[in-house]
Amino acid sequence: MTAVIPDHRPGSGTASGPAAVAGAVDGARRAQPDWEALGFSGRKKALDAWRVLILRRTEELVALIREETGKTADDARLEVVLVADHLRWAAAHAGRVLGRRRVSSGLLMFNQSATVEYRPLGVVGVIGPWNYPAFIPIGPVAAALAAGNTVVLKPSELTPRVGAWLAATLAEAAPGPEVLRIVTGDGDTGAALCRAAVDKVSFTGSSATGRRVMAACAENLTPVVIEGGGKDAMIVAADADLEAAADAAVWAAMSNAGQTCVGLERVYVVDGVADRFLDLVTERAAALRTGERPDADLGRIVLPRQVEVIRSHVQDAVARGARVLLGGPRSISAPYVAPVVLAEVPEDSTALTEETFGPVLVVNRVSGVDEAVARTNASAYGLGASVYTRDRAQGRRIAARLRTGMVSVNAVIAFAGIPALPFGGTGDSGFGRVHGPDGLREFSRSQAVTTQRFRPLMQPNSFGRHPDTMRTLVRMVRALHGRRALSGGPSPRRGLPHGERTT
Ligand code: NAD
Repeated sequence: MTAVIPDHRPGSGTASGPAAVAGAVDGARRAQPDWEALGFSGRKKALDAWRVLILRRTEELVALIREETGKTADDARLEVVLVADHLRWAAAHAGRVLGRRRVSSGLLMFNQSATVEYRPLGVVGVIGPWNYPAFIPIGPVAAALAAGNTVVLKPSELTPRVGAWLAATLAEAAPGPEVLRIVTGDGDTGAALCRAAVDKVSFTGSSATGRRVMAACAENLTPVVIEGGGKDAMIVAADADLEAAADAAVWAAMSNAGQTCVGLERVYVVDGVADRFLDLVTERAAALRTGERPDADLGRIVLPRQVEVIRSHVQDAVARGARVLLGGPRSISAPYVAPVVLAEVPEDSTALTEETFGPVLVVNRVSGVDEAVARTNASAYGLGASVYTRDRAQGRRIAARLRTGMVSVNAVIAFAGIPALPFGGTGDSGFGRVHGPDGLREFSRSQAVTTQRFRPLMQPNSFGRHPDTMRTLVRMVRALHGRRALSGGPSPRRGLPHGERTT
């Protein structure tokens, strides 16, 4: 059986106005208490059934993703694999991360038992982009559902049917009141969702739209997660495995035709190895096939106006003296853009300051790792980064100096494929996290609960306390915590919840 997907395509007359959005939020609100009452294990059962159904229908989802985005079959399959893995992780770990746990009650309240747990927020609004129409929304959707919320999803107006397919398959796998509802339309529908009475909005898209989303959410003090754009850089140190770095750079820059938020747009390579690295990158990128052909490596640019952005960045770089190693303004022919490799691009040209979101890779040489770190950090964006060096300890030291939410050493974008890791950025790339324990907590509210175990001899929280109570307490605190030697805090290895180990 295939999922029945209502026609949500632009022009089908099904765009959801404010009343339809309010209706969807209302329906999600009514479904929420029963969904929460299922508990972690009941919700896991439903989400596991959904995952199995999605995997059984992989090729159906692949076909739909391709129909709406024009990406290659393998790029679409990668999405489905990531969807399944992240869904599995959120369902399997929500109870451990969010469930009730005891904490130490300390000196003052030693007669109390103290617990913390993470309760659902209620209804979460998710606004998605078109570049990974299944994988990107599944991060917040899986976390929010696993935490006990219900969700109203507004997929991109370019990929409404993928969103509708996800909701239809969940409804089939877990019959009952719909816990994932879809509203469709453009930015107006998204704005209506921000203004509807949702308890949180998770937005993924461009940083410019993120600002508008935040402004709309501010009207009702609705909290937001902003997953914005990126300008990810790779640092190639003098001792790097250049073949591996070049192979990874070309894949990270060109797969999905460069339309990846954590796609690679800049490389800073140390001077002594720059020529060899450029040769390897250019050779690999030149071998890629672009277009309609079934064996193509690069599909089309989905958003027609993005082609002009790509063209203007390339033209700006070339006009300002960049060296063109592959492609160039003439390799851009809408809706396809063949790989472009540029070198010696001025750092203040738009190809380096703005998100290009196409298969364009800028490779600039630097005097050393320090300059590479400074240039990487000079961007307004701070989403992901990668570092290539044979010295893994140096790789971790460089990673620690980068102002980005995620870094991969001797790999690219590996962090996105690890569901236990938080995903998100800094600066213009946004704030808040999806994926991992942070992602689960993002869609929950912590609740602290104390339960009195016995009546204490001293009662500081009472006007009826003994006149000496506070003085006695101060003496006790001084004796216990008033000297440096005695007051060393807990070891950083202790007190980490849920087996989140230090390395
Ligand atoms: P976009 O900002 O144009 O649209 C994103 C979504 O926001 C769409 O669903 C759109 O309809 C909606 N929207 C538009 N105006 C709105 C408004 N005023 N209020 C509420 N919603 C509104 O982005 P896009 O072109 O769909 O996606 C590409 C962008 O997304 C790139 O910048 C890319 O880097 C970014 N992205 C970021 C991540 C991440 O995790 N950080 C992941 C994927 C894509």
